[in-house]
Amino acid sequence: MKIRIKGLEFEYRSVKALKGVTLEIEESKLTAIVGPNGSGKSTLLKCINRILKPRKGIVYVDGKSIEDLSHSEIAKMIGYVPQSVQQTFPATVFDVVLMGRRPHISWIYGKRDFERVVKVLKLLNIEDIAMRDFNELSGGQKQKVLIARALAQEPEILLLDEPTANLDLRHQLEVMKLVKDLTRNGLTAIVAVHDLNLASRFADKIVMMKDGNIFAVGEAEEVLTPNNIESVYGIKVKIIYVDGYLYVIPI
Ligand code: ADP
Ligand code: MG
Repeated sequence: MKIRIKGLEFEYRSVKALKGVTLEIEESKLTAIVGPNGSGKSTLLKCINRILKPRKGIVYVDGKSIEDLSHSEIAKMIGYVPQSVQQTFPATVFDVVLMGRRPHISWIYGKRDFERVVKVLKLLNIEDIAMRDFNELSGGQKQKVLIARALAQEPEILLLDEPTANLDLRHQLEVMKLVKDLTRNGLTAIVAVHDLNLASRFADKIVMMKDGNIFAVGEAEEVLTPNNIESVYGIKVKIIYVDGYLYVIPI
């Protein structure tokens, strides 16, 4: 599903977090949002999901303003995994993932819901921990379970806020690759990510934010330039290519 964001402004009490963001997100693509801490990445994702109500501006999904949709309609369309895995659930992994089915059920889970959960557990390769207590998992396992919960929702759009923050290198690559593969099957993914090299390697399009504004949008080569990075992060970098992928090296 295509997302069109027009003139989005958001303010926390005194902080202007989004200052007029206009952006088009392509369907069935992985879009990475990068930018320093506090540049507005999380706020932007929350406005797309309508967890936060923007002061000004509109988000269109498939041409429809999300203002006109109910929370359950939005939940059927958009899956969201928040930034930190601080959440605790006194439940098994299976039950946490099953919670993702909520938007689809009337009052009781059915066969289809359980089948979907099993499918998603397999997809994320976490069937073996299905009966474990969520609270006892490692950060990386919890992250995967929360992604599974979002996918159990069968969303057409997936918003991930720094999904790789607590993961070791192998799991960072695994999660990004998984999301990339899902976009090949039609999912539209927006991932806020700190690591510019992960963004470069996996994203079809990179959105670079600075101070509540979009600073640059495009493919890795266009966005991740030494000039842009110096303007946004205030550091000097060198760009190198390894196996055709762009890498940013701070110098
Ligand atoms: P990012 O995800 O890029 O680090 P955020 O969207 O979290 O940025 O934050 C954007 C700005 O809004 C920052 O200046 C941040 O301090 C401020 N901010 C974020 N959340 C809150 C909040 N709950 N209350 C007040 N200010 C906030
Ligand atoms: Mg954030």
